[in-house]
Amino acid sequence: MLREVGLDALLLSPGSDLTYLSAYRMFTSERLTCLVLQQDGAATLVVPGLEAARAREAAPDLALATWEETDDSVDSVVRIVGRGRSLAVADQMWAAHLLALQSGLAPAQTVPASTVTRSLRERKDAGEVDALRDAAAGADRAYAAFEGVAFAGRAEHEVASDIARLLRAEGHREVHFTIVGSGPNGASPHHESGDRRIQSGDAVVLDFGGTTGAYCSDITRTVRVRGEPDPELARVHDTVRRAQERALGAARSGVAASAVDRAAREVIEEAGYGRYFIHRLGHGIGLDGHEHPYLVAGNDQPLAEGMAFSIEPGIYLPGRFGVRLEDIAVIGASGKAEPLNRADHALRVVD
Ligand code: ZN
Ligand code: ZN
Ligand code: ZN
Repeated sequence: MLREVGLDALLLSPGSDLTYLSAYRMFTSERLTCLVLQQDGAATLVVPGLEAARAREAAPDLALATWEETDDSVDSVVRIVGRGRSLAVADQMWAAHLLALQSGLAPAQTVPASTVTRSLRERKDAGEVDALRDAAAGADRAYAAFEGVAFAGRAEHEVASDIARLLRAEGHREVHFTIVGSGPNGASPHHESGDRRIQSGDAVVLDFGGTTGAYCSDITRTVRVRGEPDPELARVHDTVRRAQERALGAARSGVAASAVDRAAREVIEEAGYGRYFIHRLGHGIGLDGHEHPYLVAGNDQPLAEGMAFSIEPGIYLPGRFGVRLEDIAVIGASGKAEPLNRADHALRVVD
């Protein structure tokens, strides 16, 4: 890819691109860690000396260049890459590192790493699909285990901790988010679970995910607490469910990402709720919870085998409630989208 786009080297700080290419998972810090991948295939991991053992174990096939606490870490990169080259750098590299590298390397050209990595990462291979399937199955089992979770009278954040506990019990090693949006809070798609006490009759949006291995899960179900519901809840939920089914049927190889968004939006518009579907239909998923491809108006890139993404239509009635339904799907060898989540779509009644 570097040769194809005419770049001399790719510089990756800790993040999903680095994990994708090297299997090395590392947190970002003030100490420079940088994978230097050159056009001829030479790959060197520049790491602080104290991380050398860990890096060698994770990525034994890479050359290692270590720098000690009093060394200038940028020099280690300059010695490998040289000045005045054309570079791709990690999209999420800290500005402090990027500015230091730019002044040391004086590159002729700098582009984001996604120029090179996007097309590699957005089509998942069989091992990656298995990892996504495993994460999705864990999230499904956590949802099935809600049987014992009480809602009415408890604060949203208490239910959120129960969800996190169930995710871990069902194989998640990391829990990234647990959104519990009850009653009017559900009308804010990314509501942060708070102190509101859940009331009988409430609709509650539950959106949660994390990782079982390195790949992410992300699922949303909307449940109803026993009691008198909003009279429009059943109709709104049914509309969202039909929109999701329509989109899943529309998603196939060769179809534009934007067309899948449109398919779901049409169902919601026909039901009269068009202006209450206030976000794109979905996002790609893999090592990152949100990545390419995005299912959104304006993205006319064709879907292709191996692409994995969420399908998550929603309707948000301000001051009242929200409903969202989200599954992860992957385009299979047949060209059709296969859902990885199998948890029931019905409006579940909880206590
Ligand atoms: Zn979201
Ligand atoms: Zn979600
Ligand atoms: Zn999502």
